[in-house]
Amino acid sequence: MTVAVLPASFDPITRGHVDIIARASGLFDRLIVAVYARPKKAVLFPLEERVAMVGESVAGLPGVEVMAFDSLLVDFMREVGARVVVRGLRWVSDFEFEFQQASANRMLLPGLETVCLFASTDYVFFSSSIIKEIAEHAGDVSAMVPDPVARRLIERFSPLSAGASREVTSSTS
Ligand code: ADP
Repeated sequence: MTVAVLPASFDPITRGHVDIIARASGLFDRLIVAVYARPKKAVLFPLEERVAMVGESVAGLPGVEVMAFDSLLVDFMREVGARVVVRGLRWVSDFEFEFQQASANRMLLPGLETVCLFASTDYVFFSSSIIKEIAEHAGDVSAMVPDPVARRLIERFSPLSAGASREVTSSTS
């Protein structure tokens, strides 16, 4: 049984991430989507919310589980019995980082392999940081993130319109 881990901070998860997760889920017996508890960069959403958004966005994908981790990736992988890391590749700049990370991980855990999937062209320019910036300025990100994420971004950045849409929903129901 091949267990793979797809680690990221998911702040928040995007449709690009979901695409990679869905495609990778068909390649491995078990795919653990692992949410970094404490990424180096500052995060918008607390861990619990990032995990919840990932869970809601990948619900129903066979063989996919969501876990949080707060240790070195290779230690987490030993814990869950995984030897494959899955990552997505968008640009040449992703490659440099992924190659360095994959080499360090393989040195720390011999036998570990990193499998990179090319981003689908429809999602290649999506990144969590660009999406947060658009949402912060009240731009429409609904095509870029799963619905549960779009909802939370509106609540976070435009609480008045989120309240208004809740009122509309409750007054029409
Ligand atoms: P982190 O900074 O926590 O690693 P990122 O979202 O930057 O989080 O990246 C996590 C992984 O997801 C990386 O392998 C990245 O290349 C991949 N990824 C991010 N956005 C996309 C996308 N739109 N399409 C495909 N892969 C992506």
